[in-house]
Amino acid sequence: MTLLLRVKKQDASKTKKFLIDNNLLNNDFRVKKEEEHILFPINEEFELNELSFEASFTEGEAEKSKLLEIPKLEDELKKILSVKEMEVVSKSQDVIGDIAIIEIPDALISKEKEIAKIFLKCNPSIVTVLKKGKHEGVFRLQKLDYLVGEDKKETIHVENKARLFLNVEDVYFSPRMANERLRISKLVKKGEEVLVMFSGAGPYPLVIAKNSEAKKIDGVEINPKGKEFGDVSIKKNKINNVFLYTGDVYEVIPKLVSEGKKYDRVVMPAPHNANSFLKTALGALKKKGFIHFYDFVHEDEFEKRVDELILEAKSNGRKAKLLGIYKVGQNKPRMYRTCIDLEILE
Ligand code: SAH
Repeated sequence: MTLLLRVKKQDASKTKKFLIDNNLLNNDFRVKKEEEHILFPINEEFELNELSFEASFTEGEAEKSKLLEIPKLEDELKKILSVKEMEVVSKSQDVIGDIAIIEIPDALISKEKEIAKIFLKCNPSIVTVLKKGKHEGVFRLQKLDYLVGEDKKETIHVENKARLFLNVEDVYFSPRMANERLRISKLVKKGEEVLVMFSGAGPYPLVIAKNSEAKKIDGVEINPKGKEFGDVSIKKNKINNVFLYTGDVYEVIPKLVSEGKKYDRVVMPAPHNANSFLKTALGALKKKGFIHFYDFVHEDEFEKRVDELILEAKSNGRKAKLLGIYKVGQNKPRMYRTCIDLEILE
């Protein structure tokens, strides 16, 4: 079954433009026609009041689009690369909206455009291919060199019912954390006040807003572009309970606290040196609450890491209990991006 949007025939072209502009059109299937209506296959539901005309969601069978007869990446790469080159070429990509970010090993730089063209050809939802850089500096930004397709760095990424507007070079964003963001959203209880430290372009606040009954979500991010793009997403998603602040969490959070703001839950998605921020997070938490602490931890050191956190909470006068430790990514063998969920009991 495919998710479809049913609109009157006369609204079809407006609908198509809206769906394409917002990356909501599901290109894997063909548009269906009924006597008076057109049914568009879509990726996600959205707020229907964003359309100025009548429309409804439905589910149904839709014919697979011709686009599905696209060549396989591996087969196409084999045509231009030697066996040796095939061993080093990266076959994975990060897809953010309609932009693909691919890794090019040094040995293949002379063929980078040809390789990028193949990624473009083998993935019909992609219009731009950029070359992966290294995350650097406080903002964790990467320089993304243009390879092929439309020369642009702005896109709209659809994730967990939220549409995220961003420039992939100006703000940190990892599409790989989608499941984790949904996991956190599901833990948020009705009426909670949530603080997201290091909120980037706002993926955590927006996904939580779309998938929970939180009362409000505040996000703090040092890169001013984070709030800039996040505020666009808030508006476009018609969200009214997310507030983004620009600045260093060390300065902004104590200020929010001094204005009387305290939170039921603090999310800390900065896996590098997040340690030093725990005190600030605890200071913003109500008497009882929850902390989601992200860090890169070696498999053998999970227990040690948890003990350290509990001890640090204790030295701040708080009693912390481990709820769970989750592997949410991996950067080296046995080294995991983890989320440690803590309940603060007092
Ligand atoms: N939560 C976002 C971004 C995580 S990356 C996402 O999942 O996409 C870490 C982010 O922390 C970066 O955007 C970086 O600019 C921000 N950052 C680093 N140090 C900071 C500080 N002291 N205060 C606020 N934000 C900070």
